[in-house]
Amino acid sequence: MSYSEFRLELARRRPDLSLEAVDAAYEFAKKAHGDQVRYSGEPYIVHPVSVAQILLSLQPDLPTLQAALLHDVTEDTEVKLEEIEKLFGTDVARLVHGMDKLAVVKVRKEDEEAEKWKKMFLAMANDVRVVFIKLADRLHNMRTLQHVPPHKQERIARETLLVHAAIASRLGIYEIKGELEDLCFRYLYPREFAELSQELDELRARSEEYMAFATSELEQLLFREGVEVEQVQGRFKHLWSIFQKLEKKDRHNLESIYDLFAVRIILPDVIRGSEEQVAHVYSTLGLIHGAYIPLQDRFKDYVAVPKPNGYRSLHTTVLGLGGDLYQEPTEVQIRTMGMHRQAELGIASHWSYKLGSKGGAAMDSKKQRLFEEVLKKVQVLVRREPDLEGGVKQWLEDYQHLKVPDRKVVEDWLLDQGLTVDELKIIRQARSNGRLSLQPQVEEQLAWLRGLAESTDARMELNLYSEHIFVLTPQRKVVELPRGATPVDFAYAVHTEVGNKMVNVKVNDRIVPFDYELQNGEMVEVLTRNNGKPSRYWLSMARTASAKNKIRNWFHRQDKEANVTAGRELLNKDLVALNKPVLDDKYTVLKNYADKARTLAEREQILENVGLGTVSSTQIAKTLFPEATAPEKKKEEVYKVPAALTEKVVVTGEENLPVVFSSCCKPKPPYPVIGYVTRGHSIRIHRLSCRELTGLDGQRFVSVHWKEKN
Ligand code: MN
Repeated sequence: MSYSEFRLELARRRPDLSLEAVDAAYEFAKKAHGDQVRYSGEPYIVHPVSVAQILLSLQPDLPTLQAALLHDVTEDTEVKLEEIEKLFGTDVARLVHGMDKLAVVKVRKEDEEAEKWKKMFLAMANDVRVVFIKLADRLHNMRTLQHVPPHKQERIARETLLVHAAIASRLGIYEIKGELEDLCFRYLYPREFAELSQELDELRARSEEYMAFATSELEQLLFREGVEVEQVQGRFKHLWSIFQKLEKKDRHNLESIYDLFAVRIILPDVIRGSEEQVAHVYSTLGLIHGAYIPLQDRFKDYVAVPKPNGYRSLHTTVLGLGGDLYQEPTEVQIRTMGMHRQAELGIASHWSYKLGSKGGAAMDSKKQRLFEEVLKKVQVLVRREPDLEGGVKQWLEDYQHLKVPDRKVVEDWLLDQGLTVDELKIIRQARSNGRLSLQPQVEEQLAWLRGLAESTDARMELNLYSEHIFVLTPQRKVVELPRGATPVDFAYAVHTEVGNKMVNVKVNDRIVPFDYELQNGEMVEVLTRNNGKPSRYWLSMARTASAKNKIRNWFHRQDKEANVTAGRELLNKDLVALNKPVLDDKYTVLKNYADKARTLAEREQILENVGLGTVSSTQIAKTLFPEATAPEKKKEEVYKVPAALTEKVVVTGEENLPVVFSSCCKPKPPYPVIGYVTRGHSIRIHRLSCRELTGLDGQRFVSVHWKEKN
């Protein structure tokens, strides 16, 4: 690409950028590179110009374009960084320096860890714009790789696939990722590449007709149904992704792969307030599924559950779209303009602005919200006319320096597109207040990029997220779980109580067993019941340590709770007997038990021990209230037993004490019995199974049995 061609394109696409400033960078770079040539024999300057041209679609700012033109100057010529700083400013110098630093990332051997390099690459990029320049730089180098000596080609291609294509993918810049991968494919697997492209070329010739048919079918369907559509497009998939699919499925037959091409339906953005609406994306899917036969298990909802790099779309595969021309299944992708932009440009698609306050005075939150809503609307409108994007950006950012007619062009266009006069006023006011400035969210992107660099450990390989699945709650909240996770993991991930009370689970409205393996994108509904409780068997079904711990905890707590409850009841009985108030919720009476301060947990421990039977409640009551004595019970209700029965019982040890039979359990032979020495010095006989026994002082029991029959 010649500079004059580039310049024309630049003027058309980015009227907001100063041509003179770009020209200056070009002239400087051209002079610095002098008569250097590329391997192709072309003047060196062709390369930086091409890099700048590739960058145009990534919405670069002026320093990015200047740095792109200057990016090889300090490395390949005598020019010093200071000179660039003096002429073009610190921002440009910093970007150029960033490119120099990245030059050390060189993967030399096949077995070198790609991970390490990716991590290094991202860690050294001090600015997300440097990453963009580097990707554009590599893309142009790959496009011209045929001129490079053959022994270098493979190394460069491998490095590109491992580092640059992977990073483009991670950043969601599919436009660059797809082309990089196909170029790498050509050099890394030349034979397979040649075979596959030949096969595809033949198929492609046949498919062009089909694709035209399918897109017009869809257009007509959507038109009939009154669906507003921005575009329906048919496209072939990238060679590399087809190749990988063939490898993965171990198939060597192209016909066996459904998704050689896809049809894409791009819908308008719908924004309510500042909320993006997606209902029309799903209703369009419904229309498609109504008109054609959807293949089961081929539906992917990346709208509700976006890919980690932000990619959003609905994917489905249907039969019957090709009429008589083509009977194979076809993939249909449905997305909005905003999603489309995000899919092509990834992180580079964000140019949202933040309000900064100049004078320090904060803008009131209502105004701020209104402003942000209008701003969002403006951004959506601009997606319809990307050529105006630069102008609109400048209108927002640098209004004062915009000539009046240029302002008017932007404002008229916005009003034309549906912005109201009031909304326009909100933006004008926010700006003219003087205490507002608009700042691109470069900082946020940087923080995000650094976070990416830090977390690029061994598992942060591209398929990091394939280790994880994302499922939905009925409220469409996303829950991330390890692959292989079951409803048990899901329930406990949602909330411990949801797990503990789970009685049934529905996945996509169908009841499933608890050991069902959840799949990406499924909607999981846990049915609970108040008296539901976990089973120890669930431990074998849970994949996450967290769910297992919560189940174990529940059982541990259950045992403990049961013992504490029993202990509390025992002690209460003793307290009532001593005419003292029963225990409160915090067991306050035990706060200083036996002259020692006791925490709540320690107090519970005391009661647990009582419940376990290792400590006597009567003993505790006595320690608490040494002075108190249990009032004599006035009239002990005595079980009137036949006189004969008294003679039948044998008490060991205390034989001369009177024996009474307790009324609570009405002892009679042959049921085993036990005696209890009362305060009134009688022996009260209970059945061994009597519940009252648990409340009594163990030391006062005596052994009793029925007389043997003669
Ligand atoms: Mn370069």
